[in-house]
Amino acid sequence: MDLLPRPGDRWALFLDLDGTLLDLAPRPDLVTVPHGLIALLNRLSEALDGAIAVVSGRPLGEVDAILQPWRFSGAGEHGAFCRLPTGAVVSSEPAPPPAAWRARVDRFGAEHPGIVVEQKSSAIAVHYRALPEIEPALLALLQSMVPPDSAHFALSPAHMCWEVRPRGIDKGAAVRRLMREMPFLGRTPVFVGDDVTDEDGMRAAEALGGIGIDVRQRFPTGAAGVRSWLATLDRQLSAQVHA
Ligand SMILES: [Mg+2]
Repeated sequence: MDLLPRPGDRWALFLDLDGTLLDLAPRPDLVTVPHGLIALLNRLSEALDGAIAVVSGRPLGEVDAILQPWRFSGAGEHGAFCRLPTGAVVSSEPAPPPAAWRARVDRFGAEHPGIVVEQKSSAIAVHYRALPEIEPALLALLQSMVPPDSAHFALSPAHMCWEVRPRGIDKGAAVRRLMREMPFLGRTPVFVGDDVTDEDGMRAAEALGGIGIDVRQRFPTGAAGVRSWLATLDRQLSAQVHA
C-alpha cells in the first residue's frame, strides 16, 4: 500500500468504524477492539494535531463505549450527530422514524430470532447476518413503510443490514461540517470506509481536494489491512515529527 502523505501534506483522517477499523462480527454488539488499536489512534491523533475523526452509522454513545477511553471527533448515525473537536455535539435534528414503524420492525424482529433490530434516535437498522434468507421479507416490510418518494426517509443498504434513515443526512455532510473546524480546517481530508454509506464521505473528501479510500478496492484483507496501513502511516508521521 503506497498510499501515504508526501512531505508537507497535512492530512485530516476520517475513519469509518465497522469493517474499516474493526473486523465485522456476526452481530454488531459482538465486535472486538484489537489490542493496540486505541494506542495507535492516540498516536495518529497526536501526529495529526487532533485532525482525526470516526464517522460511523452507530450512535455516538455506542462508538464511545467501543473505543473507550479514546474520545474522538466525528459523527454518529451516518452524520445525524456530529461531535466537534471542542466536544460539542451538533445535530440537524432529523425527525425520528414514526413510532408505528418502530413497533412494526420490532414485531418483525421478535418473529424472526437471529435478526437484530437497532432503534437509533434518527433511524432504524435491521441486521440479518445470522438469517440471510430473511432479506426479501425484511425488504418487503421496509418498502411497505417507506415509499421511494418519501421526502423524509430513505432505505439504505449496508453489510447484511437494511436501514431506514433520514433523507439528506449522510457521512459527506459530516466531513464538510468537521472540515470547517480547527484542527481540520485547511488540511486535506482523507476518508476511509468500506460500505455504501461511506461513498458519500469519500466523495465529500475528494470534492474538498482530498482522497476517498474504498476498503473494498484497496484492502483485500479488510479492516486488518486498514490497521496495518494506519500503523505504517503512524511510523511515517512520527519519523517526520522527529526528523
Ligand atoms: Mg463500515
